[in-house]
Amino acid sequence: RGVLSNPLRPVILTAAKSNAVRRLVTVAPPTRRIVDRFVAGTTRADAMTVATQLLGSGRGVSIDHLGENTLDVGQARAVVGEYCDLLADLGTLGGATPETFTGAPAVEVSVKLTALGLSLGTDGSKIALDHAREICTAAQDAGAWVSIDAEDHTVTDDTLAIVRDLRADFPDVGAVVQAYLRRTEGDCRELVGPRSRVRLCKGAYDEPESVAYRDRAEVDASYLRCLQILMAGDGYPMVASHDPAFVTAVDPLAAVTGRGRGEFEHQMLFGIRDNEQQRLADAGRRVRVYVPYGSQWYGYLMRRLAERPSNLRFFVRSLLSR
Ligand code: FAD
Repeated sequence: RGVLSNPLRPVILTAAKSNAVRRLVTVAPPTRRIVDRFVAGTTRADAMTVATQLLGSGRGVSIDHLGENTLDVGQARAVVGEYCDLLADLGTLGGATPETFTGAPAVEVSVKLTALGLSLGTDGSKIALDHAREICTAAQDAGAWVSIDAEDHTVTDDTLAIVRDLRADFPDVGAVVQAYLRRTEGDCRELVGPRSRVRLCKGAYDEPESVAYRDRAEVDASYLRCLQILMAGDGYPMVASHDPAFVTAVDPLAAVTGRGRGEFEHQMLFGIRDNEQQRLADAGRRVRVYVPYGSQWYGYLMRRLAERPSNLRFFVRSLLSR
């Protein structure tokens, strides 16, 4: 069962924006169990513990400080401060680099521009860009990479423009593209230049038919087309999917395009297909795990619930049995 096959998906993703549902869910004690499955914890120390374990198991990490859609500049500043502190802590893990990451940072941070102030009116883009620059400088000092997450389609143009600007000074900044958007094949063609890092995911938001494929088969076909473009390009593809079809599609494409194992990576989310992540890492694959932490987990959790009816059934049963 995949990304768009859940009939409740639009309902859950609408609930993700509701403050009333947020209050109900966040005060329910059983929520903790399911939050713990997908989120490393609420504090930076929790994230560091999980990062250390994952690095020790031969996997890389991309750490996300949870939060999005900030409408307050003070809050956006606090997010920048948290990322800089996180990067200083991550910088101390240098010695723990797994062998599969030889020649590349095993540690990355993932950043949402709306958490850095992108939605703060007309100055939003400039504020988010300046904030992202600060994080990229801290990442450079720590020997870590930075990728800019993809959010809903209303901010795609601004997000990709900011990634372009950042790359002038920080060429390794990663872009994220979503296969469900009709525009993404074109974006991939523009993003395949040398040293360009691109994470390809299916996409996690509820998008209208006018901009997105809504049928699972169409999303999968788009993912494959985009993957082919990225693997044939000069950049560094980051194959972010748990879907066995795409995990296995990578090898034949790498063989055709002559890519070695250090010239692309698999990416999966913390708590999802953990055995498969470990199996790939044990087989000498470069695997990076996206690790979210922080107290603003509500939107992230709702997107994970929307992806899988069985997650939702488990969650609702927990709420009803309290
Ligand atoms: P699916 O077809 O949804 O899933 C394939 C299989 O994976 C399922 O059959 C199941 O076994 C397992 N699985 C998938 N999801 C779940 C789940 N929630 N719970 C339990 N099992 C599950 N989206 C964005 O919009 N922007 C981003 O910046 C972004 N960054 C991402 C970074 C990483 C590293 C990853 C892995 C995903 C990211 N996503 C992002 C989410 C992505 O867009 C998809 O929503 C998500 O990965 C599910 O799609 P899938 O490719 O794994 O395939």
